[in-house]
Amino acid sequence: MSELASAATRVPAARESLDTAWDEDVRVAVYRAFAVHGRPPTAPELADAAHGSLAVAKQALHRLDAARQLVLDECEHVALAHPFAAIPLGFSVMGARTLWWGGCAWDSFAIPHLVPDEPEVLVSTRCPGCGEPSALVVGREGPPSGAQVAHFPVPVARMWDDVRRTCSLQRLFCDESCVDGWAGESGTAKGSVLDLDTLWHLASGWYAGRLDHGYRRREPAEAADYFRGVGLTGAFWDA
Ligand SMILES: [Zn+2]
Ligand SMILES: [Zn+2]
Repeated sequence: MSELASAATRVPAARESLDTAWDEDVRVAVYRAFAVHGRPPTAPELADAAHGSLAVAKQALHRLDAARQLVLDECEHVALAHPFAAIPLGFSVMGARTLWWGGCAWDSFAIPHLVPDEPEVLVSTRCPGCGEPSALVVGREGPPSGAQVAHFPVPVARMWDDVRRTCSLQRLFCDESCVDGWAGESGTAKGSVLDLDTLWHLASGWYAGRLDHGYRRREPAEAADYFRGVGLTGAFWDA
């Protein structure tokens, strides 16, 4: 926020409004780099999106971070552009041509719904409770079968307090007994437990449109409607 304020005071108003015009182009460039290449955008790709200026692109990145459209690390690199990640959070997602860090369980299941050329991916992880490896083929047609469950310890209203930590904790377990064992050992309060069917439905439409110009994040009431539509209700899911 302070960087945003100082940038705004340095830049004349007319110039500033011109610069912010590239924010959406920069956002789309970030998402498309992740979608197509499995990595964040390069400096030339960012500059291209901001009419040739890397400085303008970096200001745009900070505004997008403040608007929760992506998450920057301390070196101004994009760490998260949900559902994509530039950092390991416990999952890999492998398509026929592209390999992604999967973000969290929710994000890993969302990727095949967002990348047109990769309708089916292999989601791999290990159970935080017992260490057992787990691999699932996740596609667009329907949920994978399996006894695994997803566990989300951080309630929706608090997910952005420290979103990197939140994503790192949204994992897949063998079953609910592994969640209970992990929660007890790590001293973490148990949150919401989802079967694979519910996780798939949650992920399938959540990020729809994110690769396109004009994407708008859901307002809290719209998010609550979406969660209710996939059977997720109660205080944990209040946005
Ligand atoms: Zn386990
Ligand atoms: Zn996540």
